[in-house]
Amino acid sequence: MRVYTGHWIMYNADYLAVGAGRFTYMVVVMQPNATPQQVDDVVAKVKELGFRPHPIRGVEKTVVAVIGTGAYDAAPIFEAMPGVDRAVPIGQPYKLAGSDVKAEKTQTIIGDVVVGGEEVVVIAGPCAVESREQLFRTAEIVQEAGGRILRGSAFKPRTSPHDFQGLGQEGLDLLKEVRAKLGLYVVTEVMAVSDLPAVEEAADCLQIGARNMQNFDLLSAVGASSRPVLLKRGMSALVDDLIKAAEYVMLGGNQNVILCERGIRTFELATRFTLDISAIPVLRRLSHLPVVVDPSHAAGDDQYVPALCKAAIAAGADGVFVEVHCSPETALCDGPQALHPDDFRRMMKELPAFAQAAGRKLTLAPAPS
Ligand code: PEP
Ligand code: MN
Repeated sequence: MRVYTGHWIMYNADYLAVGAGRFTYMVVVMQPNATPQQVDDVVAKVKELGFRPHPIRGVEKTVVAVIGTGAYDAAPIFEAMPGVDRAVPIGQPYKLAGSDVKAEKTQTIIGDVVVGGEEVVVIAGPCAVESREQLFRTAEIVQEAGGRILRGSAFKPRTSPHDFQGLGQEGLDLLKEVRAKLGLYVVTEVMAVSDLPAVEEAADCLQIGARNMQNFDLLSAVGASSRPVLLKRGMSALVDDLIKAAEYVMLGGNQNVILCERGIRTFELATRFTLDISAIPVLRRLSHLPVVVDPSHAAGDDQYVPALCKAAIAAGADGVFVEVHCSPETALCDGPQALHPDDFRRMMKELPAFAQAAGRKLTLAPAPS
């Protein structure tokens, strides 16, 4: 059997496969009794063929990782060498979303706004659509502050079944109305496959919530949609899980995915979740998909949101996904983390300088006349 079971080697091999970017890999597994000279000969052959050798010398066995495009094509050459047990290809973990399969960054377009280009994008709005007045007032605040994409959901995944669950179809109708009247683009959540046709009518971008990140039927369903998908990281999900969830969407044919870091569960209770800032450069390294950050659900407290937006931009985020409410005190959902209108306006004015410092741009759309 050609499966190598040494755990530490698999770990190292996985690490190499994920960590080394655009190359392909193979490990040459030496026989247990291979001599140091035979290992050196393999290393020399790797170099001679133009690949990079990475010998990992174990107590019982030595393996030589071979790094370089097309490395596995050379497997027969190594398998014929004295002291070699076998050559094992290391699979690419992300066949569609991985940066090793596509060098250039993907640009996902919401309406006519590019996410993943030079511009850092702000997506803002209430947690939930609550009423016509609440939605329009909040949407106007977003638009007047320079935003072009409105967030807000009609279907709400609440931890408690006793909490406000969203307005459903009525909320979708209000989103359609606000989109038609104000010309904002809409990001809204779809929770069930059966709701998808109705949500698609209201959405310029479909949001998959943290609690549904591994709802594989739903991922496959939005994979068949023509709408872009904003995929939120599950609160207990690894970065690896998130990228694999994106693979489900992309496998359905929909390449327009945006990854969203929204805070993970840790022991820390001072914030609702812990914003995993490291996930931003990690995702950008491992995947070609754009990455946005939701500081509102991470912090659970509006006073931390501007600082986290700035940190996200500094760390390379392609956008921020923020909750703002015309009247946070009376919000039916996530009021404590929603920015007050004045704080939102102030933050919007501050963000362009941070984008510029990060080598990006953040252009505030002119307020409608
Ligand atoms: C939301 O964006 O309002 C939301 C429910 O977020 P999450 O799925 O990340 O908890
Ligand atoms: Mn919310």
